[in-house]
Amino acid sequence: MRQLIAILSLSLSLTVQAEDRYQVKFEPGLGSVSVEACFDGAPPRSLYRHGESWRFTEYVRGIDGLPSRAARPGHLKLSGLPEDACVEWKVNLSEALAENSHRLALKLNGAILSDADLWFWRDTERRPIRVELELPAGMSVSTPWKEQAGKQGLVFRPERTPASWSSRIAVGELSIQNIAVKGTQLRLAVVGKVSDSQLSVFRQWMLETAECVASVEGSFPQPMAQILVVAIGEQNEAVPWAHVMRGGGVAAEFFVDETRSLEEFRADWTATHELSHMLLPMVSSRDRWLSEGLASYYQNVLRGRDGRLEEAAAWQKLHAGFERGKRATNGDSLAEATRSGWGAIMRIYWSGAAMFLKADARLRMLSGGAQSLDTVLSAFQACCLDASRSWRGRELFAAFDRISRYTVFTDLYDEHVPDGEFPDLAETYAQLGLVPGTKTIELDPEAPQSKVRVEIMQGPSP
Ligand SMILES: [Zn+2]
Repeated sequence: MRQLIAILSLSLSLTVQAEDRYQVKFEPGLGSVSVEACFDGAPPRSLYRHGESWRFTEYVRGIDGLPSRAARPGHLKLSGLPEDACVEWKVNLSEALAENSHRLALKLNGAILSDADLWFWRDTERRPIRVELELPAGMSVSTPWKEQAGKQGLVFRPERTPASWSSRIAVGELSIQNIAVKGTQLRLAVVGKVSDSQLSVFRQWMLETAECVASVEGSFPQPMAQILVVAIGEQNEAVPWAHVMRGGGVAAEFFVDETRSLEEFRADWTATHELSHMLLPMVSSRDRWLSEGLASYYQNVLRGRDGRLEEAAAWQKLHAGFERGKRATNGDSLAEATRSGWGAIMRIYWSGAAMFLKADARLRMLSGGAQSLDTVLSAFQACCLDASRSWRGRELFAAFDRISRYTVFTDLYDEHVPDGEFPDLAETYAQLGLVPGTKTIELDPEAPQSKVRVEIMQGPSP
């Protein structure tokens, strides 16, 4: 009998997935949010939370010795909790919103947009979590998390990414629409006061951009990415700020001037750059030249491919970027420049882009056109794009080499990452027929590899 019970309980534990369960409840008016987290078995050692979160925490219940411990910055320690324990906390959103910080929480037209870890405190052990979310009537939510078909309420399972990876969640009066793009959908949420015609501008802008990025691999690289468009009123440019986030799932956030036309959003490079980041997995910030280089390369190549830029104009944009990168090169190696932070941004972005141009051209020449940066990324996507881990640059380049069976990427890494000079493009330019002029770049149809130059701007045939 005992054996039978043991077998039964074993099979039961196999069928019910072990996961921590979070119940999240937003108060009507969105003044606060309360969370109950119940841990499966032994609780995690601590919960990661936003550095400012403790200041807005009304209470933490279920841990001995609190609330004194809650009112401290940093992780929330869970030492001494029994198995299967539950912990509750409440965060005062009104007070956080009163600081009106883009980096913490904003209120826009009946919706709030916050860093998720202001109130969603998760473990640092990448445990599986099931989140049930209760919203006030008539409100919507946008998260980067995978939504599950639940019988009651909204149920999500965040990707098991490191707790420190950032993410944003919008709750309230939002416009949410799914946009079908080759192979998947984007989950677009528009935050702020916008008209129906502005909504359709954003929808069209994201659709065109995502289709253009999808053309690299034949399908959009990230399933169900969260896209946040935040309307912040009149600005000096259509998209003053945007970035990609990976916490709990892949997302991009765009702060936009909603008064601009579709033509102005089309002409802006930002969205092509950000969505191109999604062609790669998370890359360590110590190798930001790689992720920013790829996005900077494709932001121009893809606009050349879909006709937003003429062929020569796309090459001119790349050339102008390389020139900015050269001017910002001060003898520090690319590795050192990347460590030094934002001061070296042009050096970092355009050195990476130059390496990708060299890699793309070399692969096409070595393989007689059978391979390219597009085909390597496509094969990488099929085998290895894991959303929950971060890659070092050399590791990723070694993976690209394994796919292509050449040593193009690691050779470029060894040549340029330790080098104090900007990557020399003279030979690549000569082969492709790129002739820098005083004002604009000339294209030489007689160059030995001018076909490769044309093919780079044509892209894979659909
Ligand atoms: Zn970028």
